[in-house]
Amino acid sequence: MISIDEARRIILEQVTGLPVVSVPLLDSLGMVLAEDVRSPWDIPSADNSAMDGYAYSHDLLKGESLLVCGFLPAGTIRTDPVPAGQAIKIMTGAQVPPGCDTVVPVEDVLETSEGILLLKGPSKSGSHVRKRGEDVGADKLIFTKGTLIRPQEIGMLASFGRTTVPVYRKPVVAILATGDELVEPGEARLSGKIINSNSYSIAAQVLETGSTPIMLGIARDDRDTTRRLLQQGLQADVIITSGGVSVGDHDFVKEVIEQMGGEIKFWKINMKPGKPLAFAAIDGKPLFALPGNPVATMVGFEMFVRPALLAMMGHTRSIRPLVRAVATEPIHNKGDRPHLIRTLIELKDGKYYLKSTGDQGSARLSSLTLGNALILVPSGTTVEAGDEINASLLDRSFEMQE
Ligand code: AMP
Ligand code: MG
Repeated sequence: MISIDEARRIILEQVTGLPVVSVPLLDSLGMVLAEDVRSPWDIPSADNSAMDGYAYSHDLLKGESLLVCGFLPAGTIRTDPVPAGQAIKIMTGAQVPPGCDTVVPVEDVLETSEGILLLKGPSKSGSHVRKRGEDVGADKLIFTKGTLIRPQEIGMLASFGRTTVPVYRKPVVAILATGDELVEPGEARLSGKIINSNSYSIAAQVLETGSTPIMLGIARDDRDTTRRLLQQGLQADVIITSGGVSVGDHDFVKEVIEQMGGEIKFWKINMKPGKPLAFAAIDGKPLFALPGNPVATMVGFEMFVRPALLAMMGHTRSIRPLVRAVATEPIHNKGDRPHLIRTLIELKDGKYYLKSTGDQGSARLSSLTLGNALILVPSGTTVEAGDEINASLLDRSFEMQE
């Protein structure tokens, strides 16, 4: 049995980044940039107006009135200089014409019917003008390789004229359920049967990382079907199985992996839930054989598969942040393995508080649906009410405001 940290280390050592692909700009959202990006030009490309107002030369302003000599909507340019003592009406985003260096907003002036502009107060040289290159200067290094692409990066890349972006490819992840007892959702629930929920929770977890799931269906508990379906899985970048990896008479997954030439890197992790978890390399591809109990499956994915998929997509940070939270009740681990206890975190007056989601049976998926965080409680210890502990937040929706 190896520790959680050791298991993660072995996995992250084994997985490698996927090849770089060029994707349409919008498709790069959530992906990792695979090249440095320099700005091709100045942004703004010329001095332009930050307000709807009037442009003029501050130093040549005599008195507080100016003659309005024209109109410049955004998208038009004027090459003739605006004469001294005159102003031109200008809209936000229009290039400030020659002879002008300052803009006064419409709110701060009166324009008479004779086209005379009266300034209501003193103005400051250069005000309300966005200078050429003030946002981004030409040929500056703006994004380094490894940058996570968020909506703001998409916007910046668009303003660089990019229509495609080089990113690390997303892994395709093949998902196989195992078990004679399984039926698919929507199929008849005959007695003795259990609905295959694992393939769907795993597929959803895969989607959440940005990767692409493909369903291999259900392998019955026999070696031949398991091998045939695993063989199909080799077309993907990563294979995940659930169930059939414990010590039961029908637990064939490990055996079949080895028959297929796969190498089991480890089996059994010192944790609860999810001890019987195998990690293998088969045809150079990572294979995660997750335990069958629905909570053990999802926790196993969270702890080991998620970091691997993120690393393959070029993410340099693949482990969720820990937050400090105060326990509002005692939480015991009377067992002999570190326990990943499902908890509910709430935010009150800017502080996190947590409590257990109740019974922690590894077949009780409700222990996850009722919660939003995992805490690791060492064996034989108790978290006392009032203790401040580390918690791994699985989702942050509770932090949103109404
Ligand atoms: P196993 O390790 O195959 O013995 O599975 C352990 C437990 O998890 C059994 O109660 C299975 O019925 C259950 N289980 C296995 N696979 C699935 C699945 N795909 N969906 C829901 N439960 C499952
Ligand atoms: Mg089984």
